[in-house]
Amino acid sequence: MTGGLPRDALAAALPDADLRVLIIVLWQVTGDDRWLNLPHMPTRDVNLIADEGAGLPEDVQAEIRAAALEILSRPIEAAIPVPTEDHTAVAMRACLGERVPAEYAPMMREEMGFAPRQVTWSGDPVQAKHPVIIVGAGASGIALAANLKTLGIPFVIIEQNAEVGGTWLVNSYPGCAVDTPNHAYSFSFGARHPWTRYFSRRDELLQYMIDRSDEFGIRDHIHFQTRVTGCTWNADTACWQVHITGPDGDAVLQGIALIPAIGPISDPRYPDIPGLRDFQGQMVHSNRWPSDIDVSGKRVAVIGTGASSMQIVPAIVDQVGSLTVYQRTAQWVRHIPRFRDAMTSSAQWLLQHVPFYAEWFRFTMLWRYGDGLLRTLRRDPDWPHPERAMNRINDRHRVQMAEFIEDELAGRPDLIEKCMPDYPPYAKRILLDNGWYKALRHPATTLITDRIDQITATGVHAGGDDRTADIIILATGFNVFENAARLNVTGCGGQNLKDAWKDQDPKAHLGITAPGFPNMFILQGPNTVLAHGGSAIFTSECQARYAVGAIVGMLENGIAAMDVRQDVHDAYMDRVDAEHRELVWNHPGMTPWYRNPKGRVAAAIPWRLVDYRAMTWAPDFDEYHLTQAG
Ligand code: NAP
Repeated sequence: MTGGLPRDALAAALPDADLRVLIIVLWQVTGDDRWLNLPHMPTRDVNLIADEGAGLPEDVQAEIRAAALEILSRPIEAAIPVPTEDHTAVAMRACLGERVPAEYAPMMREEMGFAPRQVTWSGDPVQAKHPVIIVGAGASGIALAANLKTLGIPFVIIEQNAEVGGTWLVNSYPGCAVDTPNHAYSFSFGARHPWTRYFSRRDELLQYMIDRSDEFGIRDHIHFQTRVTGCTWNADTACWQVHITGPDGDAVLQGIALIPAIGPISDPRYPDIPGLRDFQGQMVHSNRWPSDIDVSGKRVAVIGTGASSMQIVPAIVDQVGSLTVYQRTAQWVRHIPRFRDAMTSSAQWLLQHVPFYAEWFRFTMLWRYGDGLLRTLRRDPDWPHPERAMNRINDRHRVQMAEFIEDELAGRPDLIEKCMPDYPPYAKRILLDNGWYKALRHPATTLITDRIDQITATGVHAGGDDRTADIIILATGFNVFENAARLNVTGCGGQNLKDAWKDQDPKAHLGITAPGFPNMFILQGPNTVLAHGGSAIFTSECQARYAVGAIVGMLENGIAAMDVRQDVHDAYMDRVDAEHRELVWNHPGMTPWYRNPKGRVAAAIPWRLVDYRAMTWAPDFDEYHLTQAG
């Protein structure tokens, strides 16, 4: 039983309530099924930020708000404090007014915090002889460390930077923000953050990571400003020896498991354009933004038009003297109404105070930015226009996005021609409109689509013209295929992970384990980047659960080492590749960063979120060669 909510504050906030969320709150609090049925059933809304009225008639909206005011301002004893899977399946459909398969219920219960995702001991805790060594204190490392902390398993985190946060610490360029809805892009456990926006900015995300690492009590386990120089598997001791160098000098740590949690997009890629080093002005990579750079009034060149550029360009266009954007490939950009809106104070109040409201709001965001798109990215063998789209729905998305470009660039046929892609939508990484086209038609901006021949001392030479620049911004992406191999990892028989993954072709069972590298569990490893939607924190939590489940299983069963079987690994990779052959990222005519130089999609995940969760829920020890502890 909790006290009722203050009536005045509730009354003031309810006009901003998302009614599809509120009806589920009323159902959980009262246990009355009428809230799940007509006339309270919302209309399906595919907008990422849906209309709060949920398509309900005015009188029904008024009835729901009035009932919420009465029910929630009285002392609350929830009739359904924790919905079962069956309950959840019914409520998911009632919340969205659409068919949500019941198979999503277990995953969504975890995401809403109604069921734990973290691993627990099956019996008494077992002592580990050495710690688990995690490399990287970004979101993945934090997720895994939090679970080890609750289990009492010793661990250390090696972090090259002076703070936690990973990508949200390192990326500090103007306009840097998340483009996955925050209420989904956050941990499923721990305190709920009062996000100020639907898509928050870098500083808020960094603070969130700092706050959670404090809350989970993992900060004291971190060796900051410390780099890993090499990791070697010792079969005799069944331990990883991890060489580190930091403020206290060099050291070698022994670990029962090695967790590379450095991710695929942390190593900036500098383009191999001739003359790159000749430039005499200031050159910055988007991922290494200096705090003292001042673009005001400067002639700025931006190379690249991916997600980073799409945030930087609109953020600086009003400050620069001139802006020249060099585009190699035109991009499809999705328009999201209300994308840059702040959460109203009433919406924040409801999320913080109304029981179950934050949980179901999170569900709506996860669902709309989840698996729905994936089936539309599959090749239809009977579709007559494969050059322009994968299938009929993909083609409809193409028409919508093309219309958006034409609207945004109306009166600028020159820009429309340059900006209209000639490949299917979503074949490159999904981009959300941050004001990209408005920035391109800004008087200060020139869009160049000629190939860059050379960087000179004074600027960029392309299409026969020299264009002078004071600053060149390289928004040219990342070396994504090295990933854990950057840690100089040597496994069984002296094999280096770099060699196992030669030709930029990393592979791992479930994206997590590689044959010959026992007790190594990679987070955000090969073929695990979400390219169709969803939150990278979700996949990190799935992988963390798998890794911790493996460590607990080893400790509980006296297993010293587990090494994934080659046949299991190869069969998994065959399934991944077969799936990708049918999906849009394999389409010819453009190169997404998910594809390696061999043309294999080696970064993106081909699976639905719900399937990946099921695959990674618990390790199958039969899939591993096991060494019993001596
Ligand atoms: P990116 O998507 O790989 O884009 C790199 C850009 O540089 C592309 O336009 C590429 O052209 C261009 N480029 C590369 N080499 C070039 C060369 N030699 N000459 C001319 N152009 C060249 O990199 P990113 O924008 O940094 O984004 C990487 C990923 O980071 C994103 O996809 C996303 O997953 C993540 N990210 C997320 C956010 C967010 O959440 N809001 C923001 C930024 C980044 P081509 O297209 O022709 O290859």
